Amino acid sequence: MSTLQKLYEGKAKILYQTNEPDVLLAHFKDDATAFNAQKKGRIQNKGEMNCTIAAHLFRQLAARGIPTHFVDQPSPNEMRVRAVKILPLEVVVRNIAAGSLCQETGIPLGTVLPQPLVEFYYKNDGLGDPLLTRDRLLLLELATPEQLVQLQQMALQINTLLQEFFNQCGITLVDFKLEFGLDADQTLVLADEISPDTCRLWNQAETDPQQRVMDKDRFRHDLGSVESAYEQVMQRVLAHQL
Ligand code: UDP
Repeated sequence: MSTLQKLYEGKAKILYQTNEPDVLLAHFKDDATAFNAQKKGRIQNKGEMNCTIAAHLFRQLAARGIPTHFVDQPSPNEMRVRAVKILPLEVVVRNIAAGSLCQETGIPLGTVLPQPLVEFYYKNDGLGDPLLTRDRLLLLELATPEQLVQLQQMALQINTLLQEFFNQCGITLVDFKLEFGLDADQTLVLADEISPDTCRLWNQAETDPQQRVMDKDRFRHDLGSVESAYEQVMQRVLAHQL
């Protein structure tokens, strides 16, 4: 397959056209950023690990009826995906309080939430990806009211499936971020990636609040052993099926 024009370069991936009009090639980079790109670095082999983890998770979710943009993984750090129009929304699902939820509400880190919390953020680097209210989201026409209901339902369904999956891996799914796109039929499909870059994952075999971290928080907070944590997630993910 010949690779054509570069369409877009983001912080973690480069998107290329392919010789199939409705298929794009996503190249996963080793570059790592945090805090709206104020912190920059590299995580050795991250591209390959995240691409492999995301491909496996997309396959599991697709097998359970979740429509995704995933086509196949032609090489360790490349994923072929269906071309979709990405909604400028970050859909965050939280099971346990961490990160910005703790900072902005005072809920202590590690508090198990009575039910999963679905939150919508405006995907806009210039504005610092602000948390949206439902009315602001509709005001900005980032989704229709019907799409909003569907996004919420899909996010919760994906959360149930991923929680079950990660539990089998001995990993607690604390929170994660999803992105969705619209295909040519205006159907909502899960897009982007699901990886230790976009999830908080805690090792159930560890109780120490630093030792248990298996995700990008190791990079964000300079906890060390970033590569080996991602590697451990990949090994466990690949060894399990939903
Ligand atoms: N997240 C992400 N990309 C973003 C913001 C958040 O993948 O641009 C993920 C993050 O890794 C975590 C979840 O979404 O798993 C919730 O993040 P939070 O709002 O707590 O923000 P953070 O503390 O990462 O700034």
